[in-house]
Amino acid sequence: MFKKIIALILVIVILAHAAIFITLFRIEDLSTTIISCVCIILLEIILVYLSLLLFTERIRVSINKLNRYIENLDDIPQLHIEVYKEEFEEFKKLIVSLDTMIDRYNKNTKNLRYEKRKADLILSYLEQGIIILDDLGLVKEINDFCITSLQLNIKIDDKIENLFSNSTFQKMLSTSIAQKQSKNCEITVNSQNLYIKIKPLIKNTDKYGYIMSIRDITDIRKFDEIKYQFVNNVTHELKTPLTSIKGFIETLQLGAINDKNAATRFLEIMDIEATRLYNLIEDILLLSDIEQTEVIMPEEFDLTALVTETISLLESQASKKGIPIIIKLDQINFKGEPDHFKQILINLISNSIKYTEKGHIEVLLKEKQNDIFLIVKDTGVGIAYAHQNRIFERFYRIDKSRSRQSGGTGLGLSIVKHLVATYNGDIRVNSALGKGSAFIIRFNTKKY
Ligand code: ADP
Repeated sequence: MFKKIIALILVIVILAHAAIFITLFRIEDLSTTIISCVCIILLEIILVYLSLLLFTERIRVSINKLNRYIENLDDIPQLHIEVYKEEFEEFKKLIVSLDTMIDRYNKNTKNLRYEKRKADLILSYLEQGIIILDDLGLVKEINDFCITSLQLNIKIDDKIENLFSNSTFQKMLSTSIAQKQSKNCEITVNSQNLYIKIKPLIKNTDKYGYIMSIRDITDIRKFDEIKYQFVNNVTHELKTPLTSIKGFIETLQLGAINDKNAATRFLEIMDIEATRLYNLIEDILLLSDIEQTEVIMPEEFDLTALVTETISLLESQASKKGIPIIIKLDQINFKGEPDHFKQILINLISNSIKYTEKGHIEVLLKEKQNDIFLIVKDTGVGIAYAHQNRIFERFYRIDKSRSRQSGGTGLGLSIVKHLVATYNGDIRVNSALGKGSAFIIRFNTKKY
């Protein structure tokens, strides 16, 4: 269309020039010739002006059309040369270039969105709190763990220094910011032990924020404490018989070996202490073994037969003290490791024998709905209420000297408790001082 207009104008200009030149050749009057020339120039100026007007208008339309496409930057569709009707060759090239650019832009935006979603997902799965801060210390990103598990009172755009007023935390923040270095600290907030680390995010020497990680290490600290206590108790327990043995050896070396009676007595005591040492090590090993035990494929066995068999092993010990063991057993089969149940029975029944001077011991096995009860009762010294919860702790003994005299290690009941827990069972004690005790174990056949 535009080309046709240009061609038409050119034809008109050529025709006009031809007509004028023919007229000018015929007229000899100078003034007429000048007027004619001026007219020609004026006509040409008007024609050039009109052509330029048409041309610029056409360019303006094309540019506006392009602008309308580019303005909506959020969701740029491709222009598509075949859809976008453009006549200028240069504009056509521009559109193709724009299409390539838009295509690249769309792909990059899609990749960025994917990467952002991936980063968000990773942050939400982390088992620790992550907070991203800008260079002014304002919170810019918080992962779910901070809110759901750590229950931190924090939101986007909060100042990080308001998170904990704890002085250790405040000091760590200020030194990390001042020195542009990673720092960490451990603080206790609402009886939670938190390990906090802050690290500046630096790119090409430009500091543009910080990343802070927060871990709840309460369980680790509790475990450390238990481990410390255990090692302390074990060394103390081992030291006592060893000191005694060493003392007797020295006494013997200093001459007591020549006194036959004294030497025999000392050797007897040393034998008792060595046995105690051996039992202690055996029980410690057993306890650590149980702690790592997981009964993966339990097999069914005759629990009633196992109880009867274990009692027969301990009967001679009881009869030495003149204490009969009465048994009342239902026929029960159970799934598990028979040695575990044998250990439970040995520990409970031998305790009853140890702490009973007169009366009797009763062992009961019965099934009620989905529960199996294993009960060991005695008419012994009994346990005061204050001790009843603590006797299942490692090395806890009510009467240390009595327990030692009878070869006790203080680990028997904690071994029982662990074994019962392996089968999702529970153990409790009913006792009254001077009247006796009943240890009641319950296993739920549905739970295990
Ligand atoms: P120990 O080797 O000292 O017997 P246990 O862990 O088996 O260790 O028992 C812990 C403590 O519980 C014992 O020292 C004892 O004081 C108390 N105890 C356990 N069983 C009985 C019981 N049948 N009668 C009275 N006290 C008991």
